[in-house]
Amino acid sequence: MFSLFNYILEATASDIQRKQKSITRLFPPFPDRVKAIGDKGGVRLRDTDVENWYFNVHSGTKDAWYENVLHFKNIVETLGNLVKDRRLWVRDRSRVDLAKLAHEFLKKTHIKISCSCPASLYWGSDYILGLAKYDAKYGRQEPRAPKIRNPKQYGSMCKHLHAVMKVLPFYTATVARWLQDFYKDDIEKFEEEAKAEFGWIQKVAGELGKKKKEVEEKPEEKPEEISKEQARQAAVELAKRREEVGGEGEGDVFTG
Ligand SMILES: [Zn+2]
Repeated sequence: MFSLFNYILEATASDIQRKQKSITRLFPPFPDRVKAIGDKGGVRLRDTDVENWYFNVHSGTKDAWYENVLHFKNIVETLGNLVKDRRLWVRDRSRVDLAKLAHEFLKKTHIKISCSCPASLYWGSDYILGLAKYDAKYGRQEPRAPKIRNPKQYGSMCKHLHAVMKVLPFYTATVARWLQDFYKDDIEKFEEEAKAEFGWIQKVAGELGKKKKEVEEKPEEKPEEISKEQARQAAVELAKRREEVGGEGEGDVFTG
């Protein structure tokens, strides 16, 4: 289906980092150069907007800063999928746990990135990120392959983007605040949808007190499968009972 097709044209931060691993074959001292960026003031998040994060990243060698952009793709769609995951909810299931949501969002979201330094253009980063299988170059696309400087197309990022990706996991709290600022309404909508679905299951199970207890006492690993199966059984038993008592009581449990 379309989702599979879509998937291979997207890249998460870890997909890009996996491709980056070959960079030392092109440039063995690469890790030292990344470290030098940290020593000079490193990575600073300058600003955020509805789809982008803007970082200032120190050159590492010159007295200069470059702009790195981290662009999040399909944000609402990603949030919709994640909010349906009950493992990301608070214990009493009143709402999604924003910290857990942010953590998972950073792992699952598809991104595009760019750096304003000359190396990202001349050593092939812009070209490699822009390949159809990643579609991860933010902004202007670079159609020219790095035939002379990086003919085997090692790596995926310049040292500045590498530094940004490296610190990204430490921004989970910032992601949580950012989601709250820009996507509060979407998250609440998805929460209501998920609650409606869960409420339906609880109500059916509730009709048979014993079943409800089992639902609550089951361990967390696979909540959805367990609950659905139990709800199905509960619904079957309920329907049987109704038949026995002669169809009394309308089917309101199925509409809650
Ligand atoms: Zn760069």
